[in-house]
Amino acid sequence: MTDFFSAPGRFYRGNLHTHSNRSDGALPPEEVCRRYKAEGYDFLALTDHLIGAYDYPITDTAPFRDDTFTTLLGAEVHSGAMQNGELWHLVAVGLPADFDPPDAPGFLPHPGMESAAALAERCRAAGAFVAIAHPQWSGLTQEDARSIEAAHAVEIYNHGCAAGCDRGDGFHMLDLLLSEGSELTAIATDDAHFTEPDHFGGWVMVKALELTPEALLAALKTGHFYASQGPELRDIAVSGDAVEVWSSAAATVIVQGQGSAAAARHGQSMTRASIPLDRFRGSPWIRVTVIDAAGRRAWSNPIWLT
Ligand SMILES: [Zn+2]
Ligand SMILES: [Zn+2]
Repeated sequence: MTDFFSAPGRFYRGNLHTHSNRSDGALPPEEVCRRYKAEGYDFLALTDHLIGAYDYPITDTAPFRDDTFTTLLGAEVHSGAMQNGELWHLVAVGLPADFDPPDAPGFLPHPGMESAAALAERCRAAGAFVAIAHPQWSGLTQEDARSIEAAHAVEIYNHGCAAGCDRGDGFHMLDLLLSEGSELTAIATDDAHFTEPDHFGGWVMVKALELTPEALLAALKTGHFYASQGPELRDIAVSGDAVEVWSSAAATVIVQGQGSAAAARHGQSMTRASIPLDRFRGSPWIRVTVIDAAGRRAWSNPIWLT
């Protein structure tokens, strides 16, 4: 499950959730792509809001691809109400340009709308990598989240939600769903609109053989990636009684599991940590968090022990 660290290929840095002025972002698609490339990103998914008020955009970013930067087509899709009565938000990366949008005229749900679960299923069937967006910002309940059976991932960090309302985290929801047995992965994103400091703060590092939309999408679906705000994960190896973590210089390395299970190592400029697994005997899964001296974090995908 962590074999991809040492497999052939390299890690590509990308942001999976971004808006342009085709919906409520401030900048044209070309300028958004230019800024991500200039910042050192290898790829970007523009995910404008797929609602009628914006003429259901699946923004074409193919013209902005070159040898060192590529894009995935996608959208933030909306349909159906959450338990709090508000409209669902899901991120779908790898959508076909001709995807049939739901009947979602604006940001309010209406009676008879396609459910979010059904929409997620259609996105997945159309080839997309589907993520539950910003659980904390949405006020998502566990029952809401569990209904999206087609989801591949949960946004565990949304930089825009962190910048704009201090509700950027999704770990709590992810951990609850993992403990129900849902084999979800974990993405960090910007959700950048370029209307506030909401960009270049959370990304994924995807291991692939080549920088193509097809290779990146396949790697996302198989979980060959980790999420970060800065630190690099170099390798993770689970042996019988310990997990070894190799990373860029870390101040803290934490392993989390089901319920209250967690164990940490603290130090200075650690690049390798060994954490005993005895605290995780009752947990079917673990995940790893690496924190650098500036407080920036990197997060592994869940690792299933059984
Ligand atoms: Zn959203
Ligand atoms: Zn968004």
